[in-house]
Amino acid sequence: MVMAHHYDLFTPGPVSLRQEVLDQLGRPMLHHRTEEFEQIWTGLGRGLQSIFRAKEPVGVLSASGTAAMEALVANLFSPGAHVLVPVSGKFSRRWAEICRAYGVEVSRIDLAAGESPAPEAVAESLARDPRAEAMLLTQCESSTGALTDVRAVVESVRDVERRSGRAILTVSDSVTSLGIDPLESDLWGLDAVVAASQKGLVGPPGLAFVWLGARARSQIGRTAQPRYYLDLRRYLDDPARPPFTPSVPLVAAIKRSVDVLIDLGLDKVWQANRAAASALRSVFQAAGLDPVARCQSGGVVAFWTGKVPADALYQALRDEHGVVVARGQGDLGGKILRASGIAKRPRDILFFAGAFASSLSRLGVRLDLGSVTREIEPTLEACRIWE
Ligand SMILES: *Cc1c(COP(=O)(O)O)cnc(C)c1O
Repeated sequence: MVMAHHYDLFTPGPVSLRQEVLDQLGRPMLHHRTEEFEQIWTGLGRGLQSIFRAKEPVGVLSASGTAAMEALVANLFSPGAHVLVPVSGKFSRRWAEICRAYGVEVSRIDLAAGESPAPEAVAESLARDPRAEAMLLTQCESSTGALTDVRAVVESVRDVERRSGRAILTVSDSVTSLGIDPLESDLWGLDAVVAASQKGLVGPPGLAFVWLGARARSQIGRTAQPRYYLDLRRYLDDPARPPFTPSVPLVAAIKRSVDVLIDLGLDKVWQANRAAASALRSVFQAAGLDPVARCQSGGVVAFWTGKVPADALYQALRDEHGVVVARGQGDLGGKILRASGIAKRPRDILFFAGAFASSLSRLGVRLDLGSVTREIEPTLEACRIWE
């Protein structure tokens, strides 16, 4: 029998949830074709639009975030179409893999772990690849915590469009960015954005979100790909009614969480998440552990464990303190650990710092907890919004 433990998730999704959000999961079941549910559904739609900062509706799929990525590829690109994908880790590589599965040809811009695509490099690649009709970005590459400056990259793509007269869609996987790092879908001129419920929206896993701007929306009907459940027209044509039975409890839970985020104020939420990431980074640096990402996202902080055995540190945190972080994926397994401060209060981050110092000391590494606490306390003021 597996023992029931209380774990505090410092993982970049799923994240620990507020009680009021958890409570929604235990409510009596609603039927999805009732007025009561429709109110929740349309309220969620409005809330998502305001968090995506978009005029057009956001499609809600009952699936994990990858389904939103797949739906996007299946609806926007025909077999044989060419797209550009900067690849710097597991999630940006996923764009390339999905495209390949749909017969879409990918030119990769290969980057080292922790690097982010530079706007100039993106423009150069587009110029070299005149057939490319889209740029698929990953705002936060969650395998390393690297943040892409989406706004600057979109600007440089728009420049290439103006100079060449080509149309190039820009798409952002903002699964670990929405509600964490600033994102302005309309204002920045993005064409499409995908997200999911279990990261910055601080909800349970199982819902995926797709937003399409007008240009991408008009592309759907021209794409020669087979699709049925993932045909985004079903979700976007009548945003007031779900096309199929949605996951009713998850919809109710994420609706509550989205309401909380909007009440707190998205700017303050961004600030809090970025402050928590910065505090975590300070904790790792105080132990002499170097960050993986050059440009740090607010969603996940990855650090090289160096001489410290990554698995032993992971286990000490989990078994002695109930603190769960995420391990390195693929080539990075055993070399890095990743921690997230999404929606954490100051006391949660301070508890993490204590657990981290204690786990490290068992492994023979010293971290001056007093001095790092003094260093991060002012930063953590921004995280009081979650109290
Ligand atoms: C979590 C995540 C996804 C989606 O993963 P699912 O397990 O399908 O929800 C996609 N992209 C990024 C950058 C992510 O962090």
